[in-house]
Amino acid sequence: MVGNVPVGGGAPITVQSMTITKTADVEGTLQQIYALAAAGADIVRCTCNEIAAAEGLAQIIPRSPVPIVADIHHQYRMALAALDAGVQCLRLNPGNIRKPEHIKLVAQECKDRGIPIRIGVNGGSLDPKLYEKYGGRVTPEAMVESAQQELAYFEEVGFDNVKISVKASSVPLMIEAYRQLADVTDHPLHLGVTEAGPPPVGLLKGTAGLATLLAEGIGDTIRYSLTADPVEEARAGRQLLEALGLRERKNVDLIACPSCGRAEIDVIQIAQDAMAAFGDREIPLQVAVMGCVVNGPGEARDADIGIAAGNKRGHLFVKGRNVAVVPEDEMVSALVEWAEFIHAHGAEAAIARVDTAKAEREAERDRAVLLAEQGDDANQSEQRVDLIRKRASL
Ligand code: SF4
Repeated sequence: MVGNVPVGGGAPITVQSMTITKTADVEGTLQQIYALAAAGADIVRCTCNEIAAAEGLAQIIPRSPVPIVADIHHQYRMALAALDAGVQCLRLNPGNIRKPEHIKLVAQECKDRGIPIRIGVNGGSLDPKLYEKYGGRVTPEAMVESAQQELAYFEEVGFDNVKISVKASSVPLMIEAYRQLADVTDHPLHLGVTEAGPPPVGLLKGTAGLATLLAEGIGDTIRYSLTADPVEEARAGRQLLEALGLRERKNVDLIACPSCGRAEIDVIQIAQDAMAAFGDREIPLQVAVMGCVVNGPGEARDADIGIAAGNKRGHLFVKGRNVAVVPEDEMVSALVEWAEFIHAHGAEAAIARVDTAKAEREAERDRAVLLAEQGDDANQSEQRVDLIRKRASL
């Protein structure tokens, strides 16, 4: 348990992020913690690098909406100060707190207070002795051994309230380190690709590492490490777990066609406008934006609500059934209004309030107009193939 949040043991996988404010700045840090919690963070970490930070934690923790982990590097005394501040978990880096007596003292204090520790091994700050031992390279074996050494110190004082991470900025390295770690321990694992960099590449790297391991059943809590507003980390974590079906959907799942020669609207722009309109609103529905009424409603028939463009109009459909036609410039606002209604009253009630036969006739008409204009092959592939063949036979 990190405060009131379970980690491991079959509990839902949790999302973590970290504040980037000075922890001594109590109001600024709390503001960021609230933003992170709203974006999907279940647990938030704050650095505790000086006494002023520990004093800040003493004021932040009672007012935080989520449990707080204190991040400790180099100074074991900061771990003790964070515990005095009432923190719900510590993160220790075995690479830079290395004296056994210090490690055991902190573990003993945590044991007495019932506070867990994350052993946070980091490829970039591995214990120099292990680095040497493995030939001056960071290897998965070296990272796992670092975690095991720390565990052994903890065991000496009878402390096992532990979760472990073996992060690296290299995706293949972290994947292999976690796989090896999962083979040798039952402790909950905290996953992350560290120093992944700015989005979108940082998001891709984080997703590559996290999703691979989660799909193998490895991992109990996750953090994206992005060079960006940490709200993006929390949001990405939440969205990844929802996409993998590991957490219940909280916000809109916006699906959209990739667009093609048949598109009647700027699908990219409309999808972005719809994303912005829904934002972080807690409407757990699947919403579709489709470029044309010829294929859109069929391809997105499982969406709770969707819209497809055709003949300068937007055709709304609920669970694959046409329900209304709106002018093209009202597509996004209509989507939001219908989504709100469905969220409040259900799809059946939404369908019952309109004449679906009329909407279906209108859609059929616009579909026919488009087919007459574009034919079955909007990209004119067949004509192009004919042309290529004709030239080739000359
Ligand atoms: S056929 Fe229509 S729905 Fe499918 S990608 Fe093209 S525009 Fe989008």
